[in-house]
Amino acid sequence: MIDLRSLEQLKEMLNGGPKKIVVVTHTNPDGDAIGSSLAWRRILEKQGHDVHCVVPNRYPYFLDWMADISKIEVFKEDADGKIAEFIHEADLIFCLDFNLISRLEGLGASIEANKSARRILIDHHLDPPAEFDLVFSYPRECSTSYIVYELISQYAGCEMFDYPIAESLYVGIMTDTGNFSYSNLSADLFRAVARLVEQGIDIPFINTAVYNGFSESRVRLLGYALNDNMTILRDYGVGFITLRESELRRYRFQQGDSEGFVNYPLSIKGIRMSAMFLETKQFIRVSLRSRGEVDVNRFARKYFGGGGHRNAAGGKSFVDMTATVEHFRQAVREFFEEGLVD
Ligand code: 5GP
Ligand code: MN
Repeated sequence: MIDLRSLEQLKEMLNGGPKKIVVVTHTNPDGDAIGSSLAWRRILEKQGHDVHCVVPNRYPYFLDWMADISKIEVFKEDADGKIAEFIHEADLIFCLDFNLISRLEGLGASIEANKSARRILIDHHLDPPAEFDLVFSYPRECSTSYIVYELISQYAGCEMFDYPIAESLYVGIMTDTGNFSYSNLSADLFRAVARLVEQGIDIPFINTAVYNGFSESRVRLLGYALNDNMTILRDYGVGFITLRESELRRYRFQQGDSEGFVNYPLSIKGIRMSAMFLETKQFIRVSLRSRGEVDVNRFARKYFGGGGHRNAAGGKSFVDMTATVEHFRQAVREFFEEGLVD
């Protein structure tokens, strides 16, 4: 997967004494974002570098249990500007599990202000822009955590894996593959997972910690969302869920509570694309999922200024919920009727 030239360049960048390094990942970080960042942070630290691991906003509470999670620094919660300060002084900035610095909001501006740091991308999203000095971009791979696994094996050697690294990478791979159920699973991936299992990770524990650690109100919100707020467009094989701010407040919504909701319409026979519209103070967050050939990355780019992968993408809408849903209905009509799929 990883070409030797890029690997050599990475070694050169990291050689010659300890470096000041920042590892950043995307807004609303998920299991893969956090898992890959924690593992990469730990490897760099083991090699003697001074590493800060930064996220734009808080990670979901179902990842609270992870080893080293307290090492993650949240840009939005940093009142005294300490994070901006060490970003300013960084020699190297690693960007994991996203490829657009603009997706980082305020944190992105801080990164762009450091003109001398070299930027390295480690990611599996499509179409990376040319704003990086070194790129490890593999859109066919299931997760950034698996790419980090390969990088560690090739750059540092398999003996560098330890229990926390194995656990972090497993969380990333498990969550980004829908618990090993999506289409981009390979024999090599399972061989990698076998190496992680050799570190003694406890799979039933990890599974329960991530998937069965929700609040009661989250489970009730899911029931409400599916019962009252799910619409099925039978003709197109499309389903969608809306969640307005007032409804979220009623169910004491916390960051991460709606994780996975967007997958439920896809569990209905005949549904091949699903969407969820989650209202926030500034905009409506759009999440898209699909099966097979239906390309929601294209849909997200065309209609919601976003992107992602073929079967999982997202974007934003800056009009109210009613107008957003109307825009979506029209987009679905155009997308499926103009033969953009099948
Ligand atoms: P989620 O629905 O889990 O928030 O996002 C699904 C996928 O879409 C992720 O791979 C994520 O990186 C991508 N994505 C979500 N929102 C945006 C966005 O606003 N812009 C872009 N380019 N990608 C997004
Ligand atoms: Mn990912």
